[in-house]
Amino acid sequence: MDRTETSKLRYGMVIDLDRCDGCGACMVACAVENNVPPAQPRTNDRTGLTWLRVFKVENGADYPASRSVFVPMPCQQCELETPCVSVCPQNAVEVDQATGIVTQVPVRCLGCRYCMTACPYHARYFNWWDPEWPAGMEKTLNPDVAPRMRGVVEKCNFCHGRLQAARAQAAAEGRREPREDEYVPACVEACPRGAIVFGDLADPNSKVAQLAQQPDTFQFLVRLGTAPKVHYHSRQPWVQRMVEAGLTRTKKESANG
Ligand code: SF4
Ligand code: SF4
Repeated sequence: MDRTETSKLRYGMVIDLDRCDGCGACMVACAVENNVPPAQPRTNDRTGLTWLRVFKVENGADYPASRSVFVPMPCQQCELETPCVSVCPQNAVEVDQATGIVTQVPVRCLGCRYCMTACPYHARYFNWWDPEWPAGMEKTLNPDVAPRMRGVVEKCNFCHGRLQAARAQAAAEGRREPREDEYVPACVEACPRGAIVFGDLADPNSKVAQLAQQPDTFQFLVRLGTAPKVHYHSRQPWVQRMVEAGLTRTKKESANG
């Protein structure tokens, strides 16, 4: 099995599902940071745009045994045989060789949406319309991130604009790469519960690498062999069983616990 990247850095995340309370601050911060426009009136659940969706998952038991968990789901940054990269006829999806981040190049995208079909995590979104912001709100757009146009796919890229800014700062100070605290995605910064830890998985001394090695840390759909660089953590057995099942069971079929 080929690695799709040969980088020194391997940026990734560990999301603690026992900490997340579903407040959605990460989703809001992500949309503001990356100029993801608000939903238009004609938007429905299948045509909306977001780079980070928080799912509520229940164990299916009746009270008092009922349990629920919130699962923030950005692009999982697949490391092996990255499905969206493999299918794109335009080379509009790339793995950044320096960081391992799976990036989208909107100007190359022809809108065929093969990548959306191939992505096992449903982490890609299509621009059905040109972006629109309420009057005056366009003045608050992030100048470091180009809005995407109608007809192209977009997704989480670990806040590429922030990476570029951190790199520029590091270069100005004569360093090759940003320090860990200089490059932090917006969702990580916004989470009031500290549920998302980000950093270099290739650095064994980093907090994210150490958390990723903990016994109660796991990845979604590992059986597919995509080796996501987004990891999850929970000490709750029913959550771990749900992850192994791939979030595909119905409420009745889901595990009690
Ligand atoms: S989660 Fe989907 S969009 Fe992200 S790298 Fe994997 S296949 Fe591509
Ligand atoms: S929709 Fe765009 S990014 Fe996706 S496979 Fe087609 S050309 Fe590539």
